[in-house]
Order: sequence, then C-alpha cells, then structure tokens
Amino acid sequence: MSFIALDYLCAEHGPFESFERRPAPEHLPCPDCGAASERMMSAPLLKTTWAVAATTGKSDPPPPSVMNTELIADGHWDKYHNSRQRYWQDWREQRIKRSVS
Ligand SMILES: [Zn+2]
Repeated sequence: MSFIALDYLCAEHGPFESFERRPAPEHLPCPDCGAASERMMSAPLLKTTWAVAATTGKSDPPPPSVMNTELIADGHWDKYHNSRQRYWQDWREQRIKRSVS
C-alpha cells in the first residue's frame, strides 16, 4: 500500500495537492470551497495551470524552475515537493489578492 502525491484543480481556487492511496479518486473536494476538483496528471499539470491562467488573464506563467525535475533525478524528492508546495501557495495567494483588489 503506497501513498502518492497528486494534484487536483479547483476551477475557482486553482491547484492543490493531496496524498492519496492507489487507486486515487478522480475528484476531491476543494479545501477552500468543497467543489469537486479534477485530478491532474503530473505531466500536463503546467499546461492545465497555464490554460486556466490564460483564460482568466490573471496569472503569469510559472518560472521554469518550478518543475525542475533535476531535484528528483538527484533523489531530492522532498526539496522538489517543498518547492512545488511553495509555488502553489504563492500562486493561490496571488490569485486571491488579485481577486480582492
Ligand atoms: Zn475551490
């Protein structure tokens, strides 16, 4: 039995990460609004995020370093994970700030 880190995307609040057991659910409730959020595959993750950002016109494309998989190749999964957590946190905070201002 193993747990995997997965990204889910709320249409309103953006991506969030969750640890799930296989087989992982296709949808999870958003931690902010409870809306059903679709699971994202890791590869198209950025594409999806960019698509959302482009559609709303509120977000800049993420820096390339966000998905720097060299950390994983070197076995630094925790660092990679932390940097992604930080990135999504910033992303969400910026979205919230923009929507309030
Ligand atoms: Zn939400």
